[in-house]
Amino acid sequence: MKIQGIRRMQYKQGKQYNQPWQHLPLSYAFILVIVFFCSFLFAQNFEDNNKAELETQVAILCYHDFSDGGSATETTILTDKFQKQLTELKRAGVHFLTLEEFKQWKLEGAEIPNKSVLITIDDGWSSVYKEAYPILLKEDIPFTLFIYSNYLNRGGRSLSKNQLLTMLDHKASLGSHSHTHPLPPFIKEQQSSLDEQAFDAFIKQEFKVSKDKLEQMSKRNIDTYAYPGGYFQSEMFTIAEEAGYQLMFSVEPDFVTVHSANKTLPRFIIHGNNDNHFRTIIRTFNEMGKKREKNQLILSPEPESFTSLTPELKMDLSMIEGIQMNSIKLEILGLGPAKLDVDYQNKIASWKSTRRLYQKTVKAKVSWVQGEEAKSLLWTFYISDKP
Ligand SMILES: [Zn+2]
Repeated sequence: MKIQGIRRMQYKQGKQYNQPWQHLPLSYAFILVIVFFCSFLFAQNFEDNNKAELETQVAILCYHDFSDGGSATETTILTDKFQKQLTELKRAGVHFLTLEEFKQWKLEGAEIPNKSVLITIDDGWSSVYKEAYPILLKEDIPFTLFIYSNYLNRGGRSLSKNQLLTMLDHKASLGSHSHTHPLPPFIKEQQSSLDEQAFDAFIKQEFKVSKDKLEQMSKRNIDTYAYPGGYFQSEMFTIAEEAGYQLMFSVEPDFVTVHSANKTLPRFIIHGNNDNHFRTIIRTFNEMGKKREKNQLILSPEPESFTSLTPELKMDLSMIEGIQMNSIKLEILGLGPAKLDVDYQNKIASWKSTRRLYQKTVKAKVSWVQGEEAKSLLWTFYISDKP
């Protein structure tokens, strides 16, 4: 089009060019230069978009206390819910990091999978050993304990030293959560009542004493710290660094990327009595990497993956050009056609099984009309009887 336009112009000004194509190479060169720059810009842009989508995101989940009955609170999660969350994370295809893997990625640039999770558990309640640990062991999931040293082995509901050592011998890593667990109001009060030197000494003790005690007890190097209540002040950074800490964790609910500041790494507190943070994590992971090639049909559950006994099937057709949404059909082989819910605006069709499926392997056939053409795709996934 552009070329034609230019040619026409040259014809119009034909008095100068009796044989305009003699001069065409120059015009072509000019166009080529423009095209080259445009495509360069486009490629750059495309690459940046792709990078953003594929950038590694680590969700650090922060749990506290566990209970196999009674009612959940902000900091106490019911054991079976914890189990379900781990199952759901596995289904979302996450990689569970050890603290060591996380450190190597964050500090040394080691590669880790794009969707990664670090499970952390704060404080040091004995329920961690009784409720969470058996599940983490069974699921083969590493986890990190942030313990405040003053509460360890104190009887009552505190973790015993032996319980902690047993976990450290298996799936657990250890970090500090201060010595006495001073909460923000107490820290602020100390700051206003003590002189600068005494306040510094107080902060220093929280970092230093806990590190020494935990190292002595565990025979491991402690160089990570989770601020009690997630509260930090910039004054703490130098003190922590001098004490030998490399990574510090807050409870700002966000994902960690390679760019996150090492002294204030965000974590999602997973509340026992609401799912907001957990759902954000699952949604983000499910959407990652899905954007999206032209004409790509996005299926959930993913082909060849496992799903529950009463599966929910989703077909995202938004990237299929010229799709006729009312043409989409789903058939579960062996069960017959499935009645679809269609979200016409977002071009998503879904079906939820109302009864449990007894097949171990499910084959589903999706068909649709694209332009004038009938298309179909056969998709296999598996039913898992795990909760
Ligand atoms: Zn705490």
